[in-house]
Amino acid sequence: MAEDHELSCGDCRQLNCYRHDKSYPKFCLTEALDPSLRAEMLETYRGDELDGRMARAAAEIEGTYYGKLTRVEETLVFARRIGAKKIGIATCIGMIEESRTFARFLQMGGMDTYVVLCKVGSIDKLEIGIPDEIKVKPGLDESCCNPILQALLLNERKTDLNVAVGLCVGHDSLFIRHSEAPVTVLVAKDRVLAHNPVAALYTSHSYCRRIFDKERVDGLV
Ligand code: SF4
Repeated sequence: MAEDHELSCGDCRQLNCYRHDKSYPKFCLTEALDPSLRAEMLETYRGDELDGRMARAAAEIEGTYYGKLTRVEETLVFARRIGAKKIGIATCIGMIEESRTFARFLQMGGMDTYVVLCKVGSIDKLEIGIPDEIKVKPGLDESCCNPILQALLLNERKTDLNVAVGLCVGHDSLFIRHSEAPVTVLVAKDRVLAHNPVAALYTSHSYCRRIFDKERVDGLV
């Protein structure tokens, strides 16, 4: 940990901001909050703009369907509750079949869908300066992912909500950064853990102990 590590919620064992059944730590972010910022949050979340409607829809779904709906189903309910009609799907090529199934589900639920694959634009990795030897399959044509174009094409279609399906780490960041519509993630890519990245944390004391092998981790660049 850095010497100048600033204490934050990650260091808090009280979590008193949730149910007010404990006490706040000295460094509590809630306690330190500027009252005007709290008021601003309240106004936003109570308001009729998209941020407020999204905040209430998410909270309502959490409470109404807690542990009852899959994320696939929750995404449709969320889209309905914010008045979305057209859903953009930014998909990884490796998840195109799952994206087709998801689109079919959304269409059955009354949504229009538009799917854009990560390889859209077909720009070879060599063209953006990636050496051939670190292609997944050196010597072959291999298009790079194009998350900015995925976002721009969905922006052109004026989608109301975009769903990221299996985009790579970093490609998802670019997609979210350039998407005009709000983005939710259906699948967080993890090629090792069958798209269940949290398994590395659940098993950090056993099968995935390697994530705390400092020497190994220091060598990951
Ligand atoms: S806001 Fe305060 S009480 Fe809540 S987790 Fe952060 S430090 Fe803990």
